Amino acid sequence: MNAVLVLNADLGPLHRVPVKHAIRMLLRQVAEIHEAEPDRLIGVFPMPRVLRLVRYVVTRWRYTTGPAWSKVGVLRRDDHRCGYCPAPATTVDHILPRSRGGRNTWKNTISACYACNQRKADLTPAEAGMELRFLPSVPTWASTAPR
Ligand SMILES: [Zn+2]
Repeated sequence: MNAVLVLNADLGPLHRVPVKHAIRMLLRQVAEIHEAEPDRLIGVFPMPRVLRLVRYVVTRWRYTTGPAWSKVGVLRRDDHRCGYCPAPATTVDHILPRSRGGRNTWKNTISACYACNQRKADLTPAEAGMELRFLPSVPTWASTAPR
């Protein structure tokens, strides 16, 4: 994993860039090294792990829409915990089932273990008598980034 995390000037995470791109940002002095690999140089720079933009960029759209929905992203957001029981989750459940018009959105999906997913089937949690252990949220970019 040699991608470099770019932080906004207020330290809010923005996105990851390849090392080459990170070096170009350093050369153009639009970013500074926030965290580097110990004892590794790339040209004249320490090998960057995290960059910080020199100037704050407004990225309001990121906070309103969040990252694109994905099953992997849902599992990562929920830390692979089932939304209905204490078991580890391997599947993603649609809270309002797809067959009833439920969509692939962050707020309509939650991680679930296989057993809970089967039990809930195409019912709503209320119909199935199942309670959500936590509420699904729109994740930040950082929480869905690979670690
Ligand atoms: Zn479960």
